[in-house]
Amino acid sequence: LSSAAFDPAQRAADFPVGKPVGFELVSRALTEIEALKNSGKGSRKIMTVILSNVFRILIHSRPEDLAPTIYILSNKVAPDYEDAELGVGDSTVIRALCETFGRSEKQIKSMIGSADAKDLGEVALQSSQSQKRLMMPAKLTIEKVFSEMKAVAHASGKDSQKLKKEKIQKLLVACREEEAKFIVRTFQSKLRIGIQLPTVMQALAYAFVLTSPDRSGAPRVADTRKGADKMSEQKLDETTMSAMEAAVRQAFSEMPNIDKLVGALLEGRNAETLADACSISLGIPVKPMLAKPSKGIGEVAERLSGVRFTGEWKYDGERAQIHVLSRDRILVYSRNSENMTEKYPDVIKVIRETLCEGVESCIIDSELVAFDLEAKKILPFQVLSTRGRKNIQIEDIKVQVCIFAFDLMLHNGTPLVKRSLEERRNTLWKTLAETEGKVKFATYRNFDELREEDVQEFLDQSIAGSCEGLMLKTMNDNATYEPSKRSLNWLKLKKDYMDGMGDSIDVVPIGAFYGKGKRTGAYGAYLLAIYNLEEEEFQTVCKAGTGFSDEDLATHYEFFKGRVLKHPESNYNVSDKLKPDVWLEACQVWEIKAADLSISPVHTSAFGVKAAGKGIGLRFPRFLRTREDKGPEDSTGADQIVEMFEAQASVGKGGGGEGDDD
Ligand code: ATP
Repeated sequence: LSSAAFDPAQRAADFPVGKPVGFELVSRALTEIEALKNSGKGSRKIMTVILSNVFRILIHSRPEDLAPTIYILSNKVAPDYEDAELGVGDSTVIRALCETFGRSEKQIKSMIGSADAKDLGEVALQSSQSQKRLMMPAKLTIEKVFSEMKAVAHASGKDSQKLKKEKIQKLLVACREEEAKFIVRTFQSKLRIGIQLPTVMQALAYAFVLTSPDRSGAPRVADTRKGADKMSEQKLDETTMSAMEAAVRQAFSEMPNIDKLVGALLEGRNAETLADACSISLGIPVKPMLAKPSKGIGEVAERLSGVRFTGEWKYDGERAQIHVLSRDRILVYSRNSENMTEKYPDVIKVIRETLCEGVESCIIDSELVAFDLEAKKILPFQVLSTRGRKNIQIEDIKVQVCIFAFDLMLHNGTPLVKRSLEERRNTLWKTLAETEGKVKFATYRNFDELREEDVQEFLDQSIAGSCEGLMLKTMNDNATYEPSKRSLNWLKLKKDYMDGMGDSIDVVPIGAFYGKGKRTGAYGAYLLAIYNLEEEEFQTVCKAGTGFSDEDLATHYEFFKGRVLKHPESNYNVSDKLKPDVWLEACQVWEIKAADLSISPVHTSAFGVKAAGKGIGLRFPRFLRTREDKGPEDSTGADQIVEMFEAQASVGKGGGGEGDDD
C-alpha cells in the first residue's frame, strides 16, 4: 500500500456517494501509519496527510461517517462530559479471542510477546488470518463498528462483561485484512500508533480546506497531485490552511464535541465563521486552563518581568466549572468534565442566591474549598474529600464549602474567553455577590512591576491564609482564557518550592508489594507510573512506601484488593527488575512529592529521552493524597517529567544524574 491509496482524487469511484464506507478504509490508513512509524519514516506530517485524505473521502462519499471515524481514532464514543468509557479489560478481550478463534486462554497468552505479536491486537490479527472460513460474513462498515463501540461503552449491570465480549466477537468474525488488530486495540482504548488529538484536528481542518464547498469530490484548489504525499509540495494557500487549523483547534477547545464540530464544518463554515457555531457554550464543560509549575520566585521574575500581572491565592480544594444556564438550571463540572451537580446541591443553592441582578447566564471558574463557618476558616483538602458524591441532600451535608471564584468564561450569553483577565475579572465581580463563608473572589494583588520581595510577601500571606501558594497570571497582554492549555500565562508558585521539586506529580499505582512487619496484611509499597500519551502506555517512575498513614494503607488495600490483575496489562511498560507481588488495574491517581528526579536504569518514564536506554525516575517519593478528580490519562505526562528534569538540572538542584530508584 502507498499513501496514494488514500488519494481522494484517485479513489472517488471506489466510494459511491451515500453508501456506508467500509471499516477497511480506516484500518488500511492505520496500517499505513503504523508501517511508516515502524520503518522510522512516520512523521506527524505524513500522518496528517493520510488522515486528511481519509476524511476527504468521507466528506465526499458519506459525511455521516466522518464524526464516527474521528471518535474511533480517538478511542471514544462520546464527548468526555458524557461519561461513556470504552476501555475493556484485557481479560474480556482474551475471552473474546478464545471463543472467536477456538483457542485456549493459555494459547492466546503464549502468543503475546512473540516476534509477530507484541500485543493483543496482533494476536487477534494472527488468529484471524490463520482461520479458515467457509463463508465470509458481510464486510464491516465504519457505521457498524461505531455502533458496537457505543453498545460496549453503554453496557452496564451484571452481564455487561458478557455483552461486551459478545459484541467484540461479533466484530472479530467479520474482520478482513488487518481489521482485527485495530478492532481489538480500539476496544482497549489504545491504537498504539501515536495519533494525538492535535494531529486529528489538523487533518480535519486540511480536509475541509481541500474539499470543494459543494463536496462534489472535486478539490477546492487546482490539484494535479498523483500521490497524497504531494500535498506538502503543493503551493496551497498556506494562510487558508493555517487559519482553518487554528479555527478548528480553538473551536474544539471551546466546544469539545466532535459531532458539533464536524456538523458545523459540514454546514460549510470556514475559518471566519466556525467560531459562531462552536464557541464556549452553556452545558458543555471546557477542559480548564492549567498553569505551568515554577521553581521559585527567581523563575517567576524571569518569566514575568516587564509584564503586568496579578497574583491570586491558590486555594486547595476541588476545581469547579459552574454553568448557570438559568437561575433554575445550574450545573457543576469537575476539572475532568465530570458532572458534579449531584455532589454539590449546596453550591447550586448558594450560586442561585448570590447571582447579581440582571445575570441570566454565566460560566464561572472556581475552587470549592471546605470551610469552617464558625471559625471563618479554610479547612484542609482532606476534609473536603470526606464529602459524599451522589444523592446528597443539603440538610445532610456536614462539610460546608466556600466557592472561591477566580474567572468568568461567559456572561449573559457572551463568551469572554478572548477578553483579557482584567476584563473577565471585572465582569466576575458584577456577576456574584460575595457572601461570608459562601462565595468569595480569590484574594489578589496586582503587580505593575515585579519586585521579588512583594511576591514573597504575598506568598507568605497566602500560606498564612491556609492556601497552597500563589497563581500568577498575566492581566492584559496574552491574558485570554485558554481552555485545556497548560499555559505560561498562568504560573503556580507553591509554598514548598524550596524543598526540591517545585511541583507534585500525579501518578497511577500499577503494582503493589506485600508489607512486612507492621504492614503485614496490607501492601507495604506500590509501583507507580505516569501515562505517556504518545506511546499510549504506563511508564514507571518509582516504587513508593513512604507518606502513607496507617489509614491510607488500609484504604488503598481495601480499594485495590478487588482490582488485582493476573497479568500486567499490555500497556504497562515495566522493567523485569521491578516485578511487583501483584499487578493492579490502572484506575486511580495519586499525588506524590519527591525529592528530585534522576536518570534511571530501571524506570521507563520518558525512556531514552535524556539517556540512551534509560528512563527518568523519582527519588524519595512520598504519598500526599488520592486525586479523585483526575483519570489515569491525566496523570503527569512524560513531557512534563522531562521538563521537570531539565528545570531541576538548570537550577542545579537535585541529582539530575543517575539515581537509586526506590
Ligand atoms: P495541574 O493539572 O496543573 O497539575 P493540579 O490540578 O494538579 O494542576 P495544582 O498544580 O495544584 O493542581 O494547581 C492548579 C489548580 O489550582 C487548579 O486546577 C485549580 O483547581 C486550583 N486553584 C486554586 N486557586 C486558584 C486560582 N486562584 N486560580 C486558578 N486555579 C486555582
